[in-house]
Order: sequence, then structure tokens, then C-alpha cells
Amino acid sequence: MRTPIIAGNWKMHKTISEAIETVSHLKEKIKNVKGREVIVAPPFTAISEVSRVLKDTFIAVSAQNIHWEVKGAFTGEVSPIMVKDAGAEFVIIGHSERRQYFGETNETVNKKIKAALKQGLKVILCIGESLEQRESGQTFQVLEEELKKGLFEIKSDGIESIVIAYEPIWAIGTGKTATPEIAEEAHKFIRDYISKIFNKDIGEKIRILYGGSVKPTNISDLMDMEDIDGALVGGASLDPDTFAEIVQFK
Ligand code: PEP
Repeated sequence: MRTPIIAGNWKMHKTISEAIETVSHLKEKIKNVKGREVIVAPPFTAISEVSRVLKDTFIAVSAQNIHWEVKGAFTGEVSPIMVKDAGAEFVIIGHSERRQYFGETNETVNKKIKAALKQGLKVILCIGESLEQRESGQTFQVLEEELKKGLFEIKSDGIESIVIAYEPIWAIGTGKTATPEIAEEAHKFIRDYISKIFNKDIGEKIRILYGGSVKPTNISDLMDMEDIDGALVGGASLDPDTFAEIVQFK
């Protein structure tokens, strides 16, 4: 049995006071929820205060990115130790926006995953194909390459701290959700590939989230699929009422 995870990626939204208001409301709304894990990923500036508000709740906090070094002359960067110290338990690595706008590559993704695991952070590794890649029949090739390079030299004990998020780029922030069948096909491919490079037991246990315009109206159909273990939610996670509805999918 894989416990579902619903994670909210706030991207570059919310001041500290807005973040506090959001999670204060959210924690009340979902306080009686059982049988699922919930994660929120505020911007760096709000991690500390959000963690304080969520202390003693089942809602975990994630960073949206890290640098791979622990410290040093890297102006503007934030290290794994720093986000952990601020209260983050998870970090999102390889989000398509970071790959697209900030030069993230499979190689830097791999360095960041290793650095996160070394500091005891859990990882949400994002992978996914562009529309062009899907239309030219390269989806599985892209996913395989992102997994192979992203997880290079990660051992069995490391993979246990990793959650994979399948996020087709064409579905992120576009309002265009992959159909449950399209998402399931990719999730199954990812699970089979993880089973192949690690082992069947790890493949069965790893949680694979779907991301791309998830809303209260489509979450249940997605969650009905065999290999979809939860969701990484962008836009719809900003409003605590909407996010709480997604968390409470039937
Ligand atoms: C995301 O940011 O990971 C995401 C899936 O965004 P949205 O839900 O807005 O498509």
C-alpha cells in the first residue's frame, strides 16, 4: 500500500504574512484528514515561518530548490543545510521551470539530489516531456534519460527518500491536464524503469505523483489509476480551500 501524497508548489508566490495566513487556514481545514501525506513548498523566505505554524501537524514543508554545495561563495544560492535548518523536510528538484529558465540540467539535478540526501532531506524529483517531445514520440526516451542521469549513483537506501513527480511540461500551468490514461501510461513506464534499475520491491514502493493543472475536479479520476500515488499541485495549491479539496479527494 502506497500512502498518497498531495504536495503544493507555491512557486514565486506569497509574502511571509500571506504564507502564514494560508497554512493557518489549511491546517484547520484538513486537521481530521487521515491516510495521506501533505506537503507545502513555500518560497525560501517563508519556509521558516510556515514550518513554525505547521509544527505538530502532519503537514510537511518542502523547499523548491537548493544548491548542491553546503556553503561557499555562491551569491544568491541557498544550501541544503540552510533549508533544513529553516524547517524543510523535502526539496523539489528538477522542476521544469528550473530546467527551462535557470539552466537546470540532468547533471545539476543529480548533484542536488546527492546533496539533499546527504543532509537528510527527502526529494521530489520532477521529470516530464515537452509537447514537441511528446508529439515526436520521444516521451519515454526523455523520461528514461531524466531518470537515468538524475539518479546516477543513487543507491537503494537513497531512492527510498525520493518521490518522483511526472509533470508533462505541456500540462503545467496551462489548464490542460493529461488524461488519466496518458498519465498512467507514463507512471507505469517510470515504475517499471525504477524496478529495472533498482529492484521490483523498490519499484512497487516508490511514490509517483502526477503534476500538471491538477484541480478538485480532476484529482479523483487521476487517483483512480493504479500507478498514480498523488499529485504535485501548482496554481491550485495557492488557495487553501481549493488545496484542501484536492487533499480530500475521494
Ligand atoms: C507545478 O508547478 O508543479 C504544477 C504542476 O503547476 P500547475 O498545477 O499550476 O500546472
